Amino acid sequence: MTGFDALLAEVRACRACGEKLPLGPRPVLQLSPTARILIASQAPGTKVHASGIPFSDPSGERLRQWMGVSPAQFYDATAIAIVPMGLCYPGRAKSGDAPPRPECAPLWRERLLSSLPDLRLTLLVGSHAQNHALGPGALTDRVRNFAACLPAGRFPLPHPSWRSALWTRKHPWFEQDVLPALRLAIRRAWPEGGWSGQTRDDHQSAVR
Ligand code: SF4
Repeated sequence: MTGFDALLAEVRACRACGEKLPLGPRPVLQLSPTARILIASQAPGTKVHASGIPFSDPSGERLRQWMGVSPAQFYDATAIAIVPMGLCYPGRAKSGDAPPRPECAPLWRERLLSSLPDLRLTLLVGSHAQNHALGPGALTDRVRNFAACLPAGRFPLPHPSWRSALWTRKHPWFEQDVLPALRLAIRRAWPEGGWSGQTRDDHQSAVR
């Protein structure tokens, strides 16, 4: 077993905050050492917890549309890694899902990201991922000023939940200016040779 596979096995077996998770531990992420694009997201919802597949829900459909990629491209672990701030479903809060479990990122994030040496672009999806990478700040301002983050290979985005439909209507510059730049950044970061034709099922290392 390689060091990478051993790390994934360790993550899969994590029970560190299991007693605080209403549906129990089930880390959901997608990872391969060759990934060029990282989706730094929030935490799985109930549908993703049930399927074990990242973004297998309406939020994922919206995110793929924003990114301009097909499901096959999105789930190509050789190109795209998906590592949420909290790897397991955290339960409900008053208005929607609870924030990612605070135990998770300190335990796993640095080790997981250091196993991705070829990263070119990190999509900071939602305020939790943005605050972790950039410190406290206003999400709308960060998305509008996305170009300031590009030199460091980062691209701030809202979380693609149903609420983002209201947000995008209020901020038409997102579809007009931000999404074309996002799609261009993704094409530039994509592995040389373009689409490989492989799916997540071809990769033992994709964690379900
Ligand atoms: S949320 Fe993170 S720390 Fe908690 S059990 Fe899942 S993998 Fe472990």
